[in-house]
Amino acid sequence: RVGVSIRAANKTYGNFRALDNVSLEVAAGEFVSILGPSGSGKTTFLGILGGFVQPTSGSIWLGERDITFEPPHKRDIGIVFQNYALFPHMSVAENITFPLRARRLPKSEWTEKLQAALEMVELTGYEDRRIHELSGGQRQRVALARAIIFEPRLILMDEPLSALDKQLRESMQIELKRLHKKLEATIIYVTHDQREALTMSDRVAIMNKGRFVQVDTPEQLHDHP
Ligand code: ADP
Ligand code: ADP
Repeated sequence: RVGVSIRAANKTYGNFRALDNVSLEVAAGEFVSILGPSGSGKTTFLGILGGFVQPTSGSIWLGERDITFEPPHKRDIGIVFQNYALFPHMSVAENITFPLRARRLPKSEWTEKLQAALEMVELTGYEDRRIHELSGGQRQRVALARAIIFEPRLILMDEPLSALDKQLRESMQIELKRLHKKLEATIIYVTHDQREALTMSDRVAIMNKGRFVQVDTPEQLHDHP
């Protein structure tokens, strides 16, 4: 198993530096949260990992493989973004199984995976609903199920629980931790919520003005905030 490495990544928009020489090593199976104020570069950082933002300079590695110039669909990364990009006129089941279709997984394997994914996000029985009939929180959970159904080794999440009420958010946090253990996946998780970052992660990376200003375990952050 291998991890992810971001090496000296820069991203500028015109004269504005959204990422300022950012490096981060994430071990295989590690859960790293990225915490920081709005506009600090968190989404841009996930974008260069996912492949839909091209860094101005620097490189991105999955293990020994340089993926800096690889298109998103070849990276085999599970992604949950805030604008979930679901297909509004397709059913919940069609949305969630989309990655299985794209990867040409045999149909005989779909049902079991779909049911497990639905159960994880507490949407059992919703398979035939249309996306446009769902609430924001339900959509967010469909996006989560779609990102994890193909058991990716790397999962990127941008505030995946932000639209959920407190109770559902807490149960999803537990489900995510369970899933993280089960898949042995590497997870990079953007959140505004300091408590969430501290309780869920192996390490927390604090971003400010396009730089990581501190990268520590929750215990270290607790002792030296
Ligand atoms: P965060 O996710 O921490 O809120 P972002 O990565 O979304 O931060 O944005 C970092 C900075 O880069 C912000 O100031 C934002 O306005 C700017 N930015 C992001 N995307 C673009 C873009 N496509 N064009 C110009 N500026 C952008
Ligand atoms: P190749 O075609 O060279 O076999 P792979 O797709 O198997 O390339 O990946 C090369 C290395 O990157 C392998 O060691 C693999 O474990 C690792 N890798 C590939 N995808 C991911 C991922 N999403 N997360 C973590 N490591 C990955």
